[in-house]
Amino acid sequence: MRSAAGTLRRPSDLARAGLVPPERLGELERVAAQYAVAISPALAELIDPSDPRDPIARQFVPDAAELAVAPGERSDPIGDDANSPVPGIVHRYADRVLLKLVHVCPVYCRFCFRREQVGPHGRPSLSRAELDGALAYIRARPEVWEVILTGGDPLVLSPRRLREVVRALAAIDHVKIIRVHTRVPVATPERVTPELARALKATGKATYVVLHANHPRELTPAARAACARLIDAGIPMLSQSVLLRGVNDDAATLGELLRALVECRIKPYYLHHGDLAPGTAHWRTGIDEGQALMRALHGRLSGLCQPTYVLDIPGGHGKSPIGPSYLARVGGTNGTARYEIEDFNGRRHAYPPAPRESSP
Ligand code: SF4
Repeated sequence: MRSAAGTLRRPSDLARAGLVPPERLGELERVAAQYAVAISPALAELIDPSDPRDPIARQFVPDAAELAVAPGERSDPIGDDANSPVPGIVHRYADRVLLKLVHVCPVYCRFCFRREQVGPHGRPSLSRAELDGALAYIRARPEVWEVILTGGDPLVLSPRRLREVVRALAAIDHVKIIRVHTRVPVATPERVTPELARALKATGKATYVVLHANHPRELTPAARAACARLIDAGIPMLSQSVLLRGVNDDAATLGELLRALVECRIKPYYLHHGDLAPGTAHWRTGIDEGQALMRALHGRLSGLCQPTYVLDIPGGHGKSPIGPSYLARVGGTNGTARYEIEDFNGRRHAYPPAPRESSP
């Protein structure tokens, strides 16, 4: 383990910090020319360079495997662009919109589903005029109940800028919920100051923060304290994790992560199946493996620890839960139909249908 003076942004920085051997520099330069690189001091500190399978390094240190694009992978895997009526807005579901303020992050996750949009060579941050246009779009649609700040990572913005945006959203009568998706509490926990927490709150509206964390080691004492500052300021927290081969694709690691989150007062919300972002096949598990993991955790971890396992349907068709399913309908339609429900030990039990379901 080591300390690092600042964020590592070039392959040569990674080599100097001892995170990669110098002979890999050529390969990493080719990856870095295509996809942004950044490892914050807090996460660099967590990497054990003597472990070739270190789960933190695997998430943030570039790898030549990223240059291989697998069949089906696409630059906009979840169809943001197809659902973007004005710059900065993605409107996929009627009652909520994404508002993408910036396309920079404190770290660049190698498996990022927006990897072609984020980073210094990615899309620019929203200009003042574009932000005004996005707010006007939300104002004109009374069905928009929730606004989700994402990007990029909105918490790279200053408290002053965040306060401005949150207040502008809170002034829209029909917007009741402001949700912020972020990696900042684990990547740069020092940014989560009481001032930042205050900036995210708006009188009469609810703010939720959703933390992206994939491995229990990311929840360092500093990260836990950063989350506690948000929660103690009255901001409920949820989490989202990506199921990643070699990082959290075993029941012990995933269970430890989910329990640690709940211990931090963070409710696990989504476990994402890996998206079809270019050059990410080496992280994706099979859906059957994801379902087996969920099954292994069912009944063995408190319900508080259970996220919903979801797949973002390629092309912009939204998220759907992908199981596993514990319920089967068996029998005919002439009064013999019934359900079978599986318990957490794999035993099946009969459950009667309602009278209207079993009538001929
Ligand atoms: S923090 Fe989020 S948006 Fe940024 S690189 Fe990681 S996954 Fe992508």
